[in-house]
Amino acid sequence: MARILVVEDEAAIAELLAMNLRHAGHEVSLAADAAQAQREVDGVLPDLVLLDWMLPGLSGPALLRRWRSVERTRSLPVIMLTARAGEADKVSGLDAGADDYLAKPFSNSELLARVRALLRRQAPQALQASVTIGGLVLDPAAHRVSHRDAGDVRELHLGPTEFRLLHYLMAHPERVHSRRQLLDRVWGDHVFIEERTVDVHVKRLREALAPAGCAHRVETVRGVGYRMNAASATEAPSAGGGAHGCEP
Ligand code: CA
Repeated sequence: MARILVVEDEAAIAELLAMNLRHAGHEVSLAADAAQAQREVDGVLPDLVLLDWMLPGLSGPALLRRWRSVERTRSLPVIMLTARAGEADKVSGLDAGADDYLAKPFSNSELLARVRALLRRQAPQALQASVTIGGLVLDPAAHRVSHRDAGDVRELHLGPTEFRLLHYLMAHPERVHSRRQLLDRVWGDHVFIEERTVDVHVKRLREALAPAGCAHRVETVRGVGYRMNAASATEAPSAGGGAHGCEP
């Protein structure tokens, strides 16, 4: 379902949360302090974070303020966990940028309901809004992909599966997606589809993006899967860009 990062220093609570979330079908990673949480987020951006208020070292709200000040983590969905049930703490948790708030002790069903609600709130926006990465623009409403380069607009022609695949990758940039996850999220009912199918469509997608010099944005992560590279041209590998670089 979703990738959830649990940031909690009390091992027993962290394990219980992880067990319940995994049981509900989520992928869970754990961090016991802010530094570890930052490393996890730097590696793979989760779909949602459960962030404990009281952590050794940097506190939950301080870590959250830092995340909100950085482009990559500005809209990362975060539920703050705390042992303090006071109204003042709730307000400052939300001030720090939390999307929701759970006061300990909370039931497993309450936790799962909040997680579902927050994930659902993120989804509709992601489905309708057009997405832009380095001059590459995907407009879901118009079902159109174009590349804009200093006033020039070039339409790109993608098949329906490549369109959905690109939409998913652009909506979740900088994360590594396994073939199985892509089948699950782009194809949906994938019971009879082989994982190799993903490779075929990634190849077609790159061919469709090549005229705009954007093929390199769809990166192969060896042994893991695929990732949309949203880094600027100076950071990106110069993979045969042609006349038009994939940059605004
Ligand atoms: Ca704690």
